[in-house]
Amino acid sequence: MKIAIIGGGAAGFFAAIELKKNYHDAEITIFEKKSKFLTKVKVSGGGRCNFTHNSASISELCKNYPRDGSRLKKVFSQFSHIDALKWFENNGVDYVIDEEDCVFPASQNSQTIIDLFLKKTKQSGVELLSSTPVLAVNALEDGFELILEDEKRLFDYVIVTVGGKADAKFYSFLQNLNHTIVRAVPALFSFEIADANLKSLMGVSVENVLCRIKQTKFSAQGIVLVTHWGLSGPAILKLSSLAANYLNEQLYKFELSMAWIGQVNENLIMEKIVQISENERLKNIGNTPLENLPERLWIYLLKKSNIDPNAKWMSLSKRQLNLLVSNVCDDKIDVLARSRTTQEYVCAGGVSIAEVDFLTMESKVHKGLYFAGEVLDVDGFTGGYNLQNAWSTAYVAAQLSKKEE
Ligand SMILES: Cc1cc2nc3c(=O)[nH]c(=O)nc-3n(C[C@H](O)[C@H](O)[C@H](O)COP(=O)(O)OP(=O)(O)OC[C@H]3O[C@@H](n4cnc5c(N)ncnc54)[C@H](O)[C@@H]3O)c2cc1C
Repeated sequence: MKIAIIGGGAAGFFAAIELKKNYHDAEITIFEKKSKFLTKVKVSGGGRCNFTHNSASISELCKNYPRDGSRLKKVFSQFSHIDALKWFENNGVDYVIDEEDCVFPASQNSQTIIDLFLKKTKQSGVELLSSTPVLAVNALEDGFELILEDEKRLFDYVIVTVGGKADAKFYSFLQNLNHTIVRAVPALFSFEIADANLKSLMGVSVENVLCRIKQTKFSAQGIVLVTHWGLSGPAILKLSSLAANYLNEQLYKFELSMAWIGQVNENLIMEKIVQISENERLKNIGNTPLENLPERLWIYLLKKSNIDPNAKWMSLSKRQLNLLVSNVCDDKIDVLARSRTTQEYVCAGGVSIAEVDFLTMESKVHKGLYFAGEVLDVDGFTGGYNLQNAWSTAYVAAQLSKKEE
């Protein structure tokens, strides 16, 4: 039995290792177009590789895939985040779980995972071909023909694990297989903004911000980081993921509304500020931030509301008060672009999930053809969800539908 795996990334290697376990005698080849394998794993999690998330349950896990995540239940019930933790632990990878429940190798180094994958595939005799792009795949009556730069090779099964890219040409090598490709767009990116005063606060982290895209229902709440180009952090990345298609249509020019202390009623904030102004009449406004807003952000909000941070609370006018409440609860910020200073983490879009059986990851168009990882129209938030998708879909694909036989 000959099996081709197209793409030497997370899903490709995991599929190869599981295939060898399930089908010892199979001849397995990984085709990788780059000169190195596992390049995304290398840079994942800032080089530390957040390889899964310690979610409370499979249902909770599924909530972190914004586009039809519930479909992944079929996959996660066969290989969950808990199974992934056990798998890596059984293979000698100790792990640590941070306060956000993100899981990393205890070494804090993605090379640990890369070394493990390379060792296991080499030991079990998987053929590893780097600098070998697959140019096209043809479905034959009883197998598949892979077109390479200088040869053609025949296989009984093909697992496609090429990842994703926001470029239609990236998927063109699949065109002979007649699968629908949902337009791929970047997800998980930060925002470039115009406001130089806000950008000057770079390094400030705000704990619980409700970020909304004006004139839409898209919103996300959590930590926001101010950077030298604009806004980043978990809440911004989540928002970029939720609104990935909409923002692409808007060419990444839109208006954000920030509620800097989370989802609270404006009247309540008004009452709180009035209370502070009465209790702290003789104190400088700039020295008495609302709730636990960082002082630098508080001063920015004061200046934006035409309030001198050195003025005393007793001097606050009604007009200034209204403006301050509005800026705390609904600070409007123009976004100019998707940030180019960070790499985009994943793509939304890819091979349509309607044409893949999620019990087996087999194509509904061609028997013997499987998909796993980011090539599918599946993407998750930050937190280890994208690599978990790669492990789980690869694990299921590597059964080669034996559950059906
Ligand atoms: C900077 C960065 C940080 C990230 N951090 C995390 C993280 O901490 N946690 C997390 O869960 N996710 C993270 N992700 C996302 C995660 O890395 C990906 O979702 C995951 O690697 C996808 O795995 P994959 O195997 O499907 O695709 P990939 O890892 O992209 O592998 C696909 C491989 O296929 C090759 N290929 C493509 N076309 C062909 C072809 N025609 N022929 C042969 N080979 C081909 C590519 O060169 C590539 O090596 C991060 C992504 C980035 C970019």
